[in-house]
Amino acid sequence: MTSHPGPSAPTPDSTPDPDSADQETPESDPPRARLQINPDRILDDAVKVIRRLHRHGHKAYLVGGCVRDLLLNEIPKDFDIATGARPRQVRRLFRNSQIIGRRFRLVHIRFGDRVLDVATFRRTPPKDEDDPYVRQDNAFGTEREDAFRRDFTINGLFYDVINNRVIDHVGGLEDLAIKRMRTIGPAEERIQEDPVRVLRAARFAGRLGFTLSEDLAAAARKFADDLRKGAPPRVLEELYRLVTTRGARHCFVHLEGMGALEPILPEVRPLDDWYLEALERGEDFFGGRREVETQWMAAAIMLAPAAFDVMRTCDRKDLDLAVADTIGPLAHRLTIARRDSTRARLCLAAQARLAELPDGRPARRLAQRDFFRDAITLRRILGPLFPSEQDAEVLAAWEEFGKDAAGGPRKRPKKRRRRRKRPLHPDATPSTNQECEPTSPSSSAPVPKNPPAASPPDSSNDDS
Ligand code: ATP
Ligand code: MG
Repeated sequence: MTSHPGPSAPTPDSTPDPDSADQETPESDPPRARLQINPDRILDDAVKVIRRLHRHGHKAYLVGGCVRDLLLNEIPKDFDIATGARPRQVRRLFRNSQIIGRRFRLVHIRFGDRVLDVATFRRTPPKDEDDPYVRQDNAFGTEREDAFRRDFTINGLFYDVINNRVIDHVGGLEDLAIKRMRTIGPAEERIQEDPVRVLRAARFAGRLGFTLSEDLAAAARKFADDLRKGAPPRVLEELYRLVTTRGARHCFVHLEGMGALEPILPEVRPLDDWYLEALERGEDFFGGRREVETQWMAAAIMLAPAAFDVMRTCDRKDLDLAVADTIGPLAHRLTIARRDSTRARLCLAAQARLAELPDGRPARRLAQRDFFRDAITLRRILGPLFPSEQDAEVLAAWEEFGKDAAGGPRKRPKKRRRRRKRPLHPDATPSTNQECEPTSPSSSAPVPKNPPAASPPDSSNDDS
């Protein structure tokens, strides 16, 4: 059974003092007693790494999201390890390891396709009096300091695999039990230090169905605008996680309530039903996983409201250009990779045609494009550009049409290269040269009776 020699039970809106002693979790507290870790859910390789570090005299625990998820009886996405060993000491113990990162050095230990992160305990770096924003995060520290530098109490728990106990310096068990998100330390200070925590608060609250403590909700609203200061790639990384997580719909509702959409993605405001439903349908597609292969789809969902606005008003013939003109600057601002923004743009632009029954050559051409299946999937997630009663019928017709047009894009018929006529040797007889220049269809390569239509040049300047 999991024991919880955890924290002093904190008062609702206080975080325990980092120097206070740990106390036994009262087993009589039913919500907390329910929080148990099933050791069978822990990745064997993570246990092996922790055991080896221990054998060599180092503290090592599971930490962060995996402990939270194990306690909530969910399957963790990854297993992060925190240790007292320095990166070089870890590196020496594992042949399959590599030190990564220049600013903050971390060890990656590889087991097949899987990589485990092993981080040395860190502490919050000293602050600049005039600037609450923390710009560096690379000072080693103690186990306790490492717990206190984390964002929310529910993310600040350690799990000691060897002794099968949760170590709680920050009051995380209490908050997990009552489903509450709370910063470790004063909310305003922690949010100002790193405004991206506003996005993380929305993500965990939406995904886990937790409420925000009053001070966290107030601080998030007060400093959400500071997200403008956040490094765009970090903000984008969080946006990808927000769109692909389970509970994405609720996450976005939290974001809007905090005023966090205005500084980073005002194009999706005000959140209306079609967008919230799209986010919900996306949840099935992503299955709670944020993966590089489906990142373009997450980008398309972020970009969809802006694209749909312009597509609903512009002329069909100007559509590709109008979508590109809208998506380009927006994708650039968000720092979306070109590979993803290109596929997102193509699939979004295709939505205008997918709103109507397939018909004629343009439809056939679309069905032969390599992004057609993706465009249909996006259509399923976003719903129709122009909602109509025939919506299901239109979608089914495209599915059917896509099957017929399958078999890959039609190839252009190979152009027969005309061979240049070799000047005839004055002595040569015409018969010796007949093979060089066929004179009739019967002597040339067979010409198909109905040559397949050549695929036209792309109007959409596809670079995918
Ligand atoms: P998920 O299951 O979505 O990966 P997670 O809690 O594991 O959630 P990560 O982004 O993987 O989130 O971060 C791992 C841990 O690192 C967190 O649990 C938290 O303890 C710490 N952490 C991450 N980002 C921050 C931050 N901005 N400020 C403080 N601590 C952070
Ligand atoms: Mg994680």
